[in-house]
Amino acid sequence: MPYTPTDYAPYDFANRRHIGPSEAEMAEMLATLGVSSLDELIAQAVPQGIRQAEPLDFGPAKSEQRALATMRDVSKKNQVLVSMLGQGYHGTVTPPVIQRNIFENPAWYTAYTPYQPEISQGRLEALLNFQTMVADLTALDVANASLLDEATAAAEAMALAQRSSKSKSTTFFVDHHCHAQVIDVVKTRAEPLGWTIQVGNPFTDLNAQEVFGALFQYPGTYGDCHDFTDVITALHEAKALAVMSADLMALTMLKAPGEMGADIAIGNTQRFGVPLGAGGPHAAYMACTDKLKRSLPGRLVGVSIDSHGHRAYRLTLQTREQHIRREKATSNVCTAQALLAVMASMYAVFHGPEGLRAIAQKIHLKATDLAAGLEDAGYTIDQDSFFDTFTVEVGHMQGLIIRAALAEGINLRAVGADHIGITLDEKITRANIEAVWRAFGIARTATYAAPYRLPEALIRTSDYLTHPVFHMNRAEAEMTRYIRRLADRDLALDRAMIPLGSCTMKLNATAEMMPVTWPEFSDIHPFAPMDQQQGYAELVADLSAKLCDVTGYDAISMQPNSGAQGEYAGLLSIRRYHIANGDAGRDICLIPTSAHGTNPASAQMVGYKVVPVAVAENGDIDLEDFRAKAEKYSDTLAACMITYPSTHGVFEETVREVCDITHEFGGQVYIDGANMNAMVGIARPGDVGGDVSHLNLHKTFCIPHGGGGPGMGPIGVKAHLEPHLPGHVAQGTSGAVSAAPWGSPSLLPISWGYILMMGGEGLTQATKVAILNANYIAKRLEGAYDILYSNKNGRIAHECIVDTRPLKDSAHVSVDDVAKRLIDSGFHAPTMSWPVAGTLMVEPTESEPKAELDRFIAAMLSIRAEARDIEEGRLDPENNPLRNAPHTMEDLVSDWDRPYSRQQGCFPPGAFRVDKYWAPVNRVDNVYGDRNVVCSCPPMEDYQEAAE
Ligand SMILES: *Cc1c(COP(=O)(O)O)cnc(C)c1O
Repeated sequence: MPYTPTDYAPYDFANRRHIGPSEAEMAEMLATLGVSSLDELIAQAVPQGIRQAEPLDFGPAKSEQRALATMRDVSKKNQVLVSMLGQGYHGTVTPPVIQRNIFENPAWYTAYTPYQPEISQGRLEALLNFQTMVADLTALDVANASLLDEATAAAEAMALAQRSSKSKSTTFFVDHHCHAQVIDVVKTRAEPLGWTIQVGNPFTDLNAQEVFGALFQYPGTYGDCHDFTDVITALHEAKALAVMSADLMALTMLKAPGEMGADIAIGNTQRFGVPLGAGGPHAAYMACTDKLKRSLPGRLVGVSIDSHGHRAYRLTLQTREQHIRREKATSNVCTAQALLAVMASMYAVFHGPEGLRAIAQKIHLKATDLAAGLEDAGYTIDQDSFFDTFTVEVGHMQGLIIRAALAEGINLRAVGADHIGITLDEKITRANIEAVWRAFGIARTATYAAPYRLPEALIRTSDYLTHPVFHMNRAEAEMTRYIRRLADRDLALDRAMIPLGSCTMKLNATAEMMPVTWPEFSDIHPFAPMDQQQGYAELVADLSAKLCDVTGYDAISMQPNSGAQGEYAGLLSIRRYHIANGDAGRDICLIPTSAHGTNPASAQMVGYKVVPVAVAENGDIDLEDFRAKAEKYSDTLAACMITYPSTHGVFEETVREVCDITHEFGGQVYIDGANMNAMVGIARPGDVGGDVSHLNLHKTFCIPHGGGGPGMGPIGVKAHLEPHLPGHVAQGTSGAVSAAPWGSPSLLPISWGYILMMGGEGLTQATKVAILNANYIAKRLEGAYDILYSNKNGRIAHECIVDTRPLKDSAHVSVDDVAKRLIDSGFHAPTMSWPVAGTLMVEPTESEPKAELDRFIAAMLSIRAEARDIEEGRLDPENNPLRNAPHTMEDLVSDWDRPYSRQQGCFPPGAFRVDKYWAPVNRVDNVYGDRNVVCSCPPMEDYQEAAE
């Protein structure tokens, strides 16, 4: 074996934890492939010319205990103070039943985006609860299943307003009382599209005739609660749209955006039980009126029926999304914040409307009490009315008071030179309030007895969360079981391999996950002073240095919250670079037709024109076509976007030429890093010619997918692009792409822990085994299926495209039939119909042991055999196990009148006898769901039926 275990035991543990096949299994697999060593296989799969010169060396791998101890030490360098900083981030109590059973539960966090609805009914229900909760609280018709953060949601709302408004204006108005980071991100996003941002006072500066839309913060960043009804009416008269960024907690007591006439509402749901995490991950929301729903960005869960007419959930209106519409999509959002949306929805289920209102009332009473104490002592509060935030005039005492509060362990917000902002939340105690008074020189006892200070006209009178799901018996026994019931409906990595090509569903090791919920990482406000975030600073610096080593880039920005956001940030830095060089006219982006949908969607967002490049017969980029187009657009070429290894799962020999041609004609090379799992330790995008790449930390670097997010998409850049990376208002710079300076930093301990516990050698070994596992599957499927693309040695990289199209002609078996039949065997289908329609793309990752690969192979071979039975007349062409898949428990116990046995239908090869996974619904009807769009919780009788 090429990999020699050292006598240093922890290194060996590292590999046994993360790498699936044992040494003996690897030897068998290599024999199947007809090679004598892993290195021989790698030499056949990876072109010599792109191999990296030096092996990765991060010192010896750490054991789990040592890595956790290191992490503990670093976490202690963060100082957790009580935050009263506000600005869209609030202290919150994560109900322990949610923390342990969702946030810390692999059944929830290792799930994939619910593209295969039959195995996703649990998380789809939880996300439908989220949508219902948001639609109710905002009093709008439809809400999506989450966006990345409040600031990008505001930018998405601006784009939605622009698409939908009949106004000819190119100006978008932004309330000066929006949070600073929201204003900055909106500016970033408007600039490349040629839209002007006017920041001002909505009541004095807004001329509705001159804008296509306007954004208001409610309550404002300083706490003011304004009624925007008249302003919104004026906007509508001018055919402009109104967007409100609203705090859901405040909406339990205040008149809702929909009730003021707003067309769109957005905001952060963090304070519904999701820890601060120094900025994320949190779920942002977006809700809109019914007539805008077909332009809504992000994922939308809808209600449909299955083949037996039973209710079933699914993603709806997918034709809006990047994976179908590409550069014409409503946004580039792919990974969003599903797990955090699930948590926020469960917080609402847990507390119900009365509980939420009680929490909000208590927060408000803390605020009024604190304000009254300050006023009694002679201070002036700037707001007549407020919910949880106000500002106090303090003159030259600002620094003194803030320092006194710090000494009490409390962060207050400096507003201007002579005001202080104070925001209260669920976690603030009487002792905290008394400490703030002391900082102001006041000795007083908190009573929470001061009167409400909400504007009379804005008191909420309408109902919300009336659906029975928000009125369950709230005994923890019930809550635990509800969460468990939903989790059991889903197939996540804790039960089976999820061989999704391009998505890299690898192990999310428990030891990597543990630090995420440590208070030192999770209870910090993103704008807390930097000297309180030294642990994060150290982690980010070390992780960045290691990622630079891995990628061959010079600098990393941690800001992007997903791969697609990374693409956007990377293209933006390319754009800024061209402009700085006097090349503002460069706006052509070459993208192969095999690219992921986010690539063209992101290019469009920086104002680039997408020019598709053909793919040759063998799956490689058509070099001639590439050169011809680069030459044709030599004056205007801005960039190319390529994926390496290609989305066809092959290391193309010509990658350097593609990069050289792009550079020759003045363009920059964006290498989509989603396939880094085939490269780490073996080749570096920065060496093969890339100027910038994103890394999907939620693919290659072990952050779990969470059922559709969270994610992290940091970008690596060459030195010449470094000055053009995103800035952030909290660091005194601008041009941000996310609300928080480090995106979602509380996820970073996962990737850092992975690297520490693997070491350079372990990471390289992981890459090699990922390639081994994929080649093993490809080899074993030979004869049954064609593998669409391989290199000249017949080898693939870490994934392969399995051609199921011939079955369509020979047996009327569609790729859907194959995918759904895999469910009967207890598998999540591979990536379907991308990048080639009608095929499956299989990526096993290094984490899967041989037995699991063999189980999958057995399932795939059995499907081929069933298709052959159809071809040869042994199975009915219509009424067969493939067409009827997935089979449910109900099928099994109902009158069985099928021309094949129960055994064959329900227990195909791969299915476990005892631990059989049963899909809770039969095949979901997509067409019905798109014709009858229902995006909130259906009536309770249906739940009853499902529970029976
Ligand atoms: C996953 C993926 C993306 C998008 O990443 P998100 O984090 O989902 O936004 C982009 N390109 C490729 C090739 C991918 O596989």
